[in-house]
Amino acid sequence: MQFNFSDLPPFKEQGCCDSGCDCATSNLKSSTACPTCNMFGEIVSNLTVYSLSDKERRRQIDQGGDDGYSICLTPSCNTLYYLKKSIISTDQARREFHLKDSSSTHTICYCLKIDRDEIVDAVHNQKLTGMRDIMKTLKGEPPCKCEKNNPTGLCCEDEFNQIIKEAIDSYV
Ligand SMILES: [Zn+2]
Repeated sequence: MQFNFSDLPPFKEQGCCDSGCDCATSNLKSSTACPTCNMFGEIVSNLTVYSLSDKERRRQIDQGGDDGYSICLTPSCNTLYYLKKSIISTDQARREFHLKDSSSTHTICYCLKIDRDEIVDAVHNQKLTGMRDIMKTLKGEPPCKCEKNNPTGLCCEDEFNQIIKEAIDSYV
């Protein structure tokens, strides 16, 4: 069976919610470098670090505080969060962070647990090209708890839409 690009509807620019939510889409650049890899990460909230850390680590974090933790975004570095010399490593986190996990099935939307392969499959096999359409068809309405669910504390909007575009481009 022969496919071509015209079989797919064009890319639909969508956010995660119909009504517009207050999910953050960017973090401030950190002014301190990761003690492990020396790269500058991004500032995340205490609530994000608390929510993503294992039980042991949680005891040391005031979830309502604002200490200025940073997330290290270097894929090969096993430090996830840092605050001065104090480190929370990827194996002290409650879930895997897709940037530091090379598996192709890694999670993109942490609120609804949608992974990269599911997004590509929804584009290729269900002919869906809008983020919100894919979310609703696969899992339902997003709860928008990105600050607690996503290791970056951010909405997955940018990455989700990028994967849709790549899936459209690879549909031949
Ligand atoms: Zn690092």
